[in-house]
Amino acid sequence: MEQSFIMIKPDGVQRGLVGEVISRFEKRGFYLKGLKLITVERSFAEKHYEDLAAKPFFAGLVDYIISGPVVAMVWEGKGVVATGRKMIGATNPLNSEPGTIRGDLAIEVGRNVIHGSDSIESARKEIALWFPEGLF
Ligand code: ATP
Ligand code: MG
Repeated sequence: MEQSFIMIKPDGVQRGLVGEVISRFEKRGFYLKGLKLITVERSFAEKHYEDLAAKPFFAGLVDYIISGPVVAMVWEGKGVVATGRKMIGATNPLNSEPGTIRGDLAIEVGRNVIHGSDSIESARKEIALWFPEGLF
């Protein structure tokens, strides 16, 4: 069954949005397959976002992701990668539709609450990176 890697970023954890995000995925009908609260090191965050290493915002993005604990999750269900991205909304919250997680809960592109895998291939890589111990 299709799986996606979903992460509540440090701003989402600090603002108390963990329950809200989990609730949306549960209510939509997806299955929670893995979850942990974890603070990652710089090298790990750089690996997660390695495709963006050339971007001018890369250093700031890495600083943000390591600034506090994140909630790393695996969600499973039909179409979860694409539907998860739709539920999350556009990268810049000012462009995210109301009703999406970013569209309802954020205004800053550099503090946009949540990450979701952008393809089935990315999901496989990200789940292997974040859950090397496997899922139970
Ligand atoms: P994510 O991968 O975190 O789910 P995304 O797939 O919507 O987000 P990406 O292009 O992968 O967007 O960018 C990763 C993250 O980098 C964004 O979520 C955002 O926090 C940050 N970012 C992207 N573009 C910018 C920008 N122009 N300025 C500052 N930060 C940015
Ligand atoms: Mg992305």
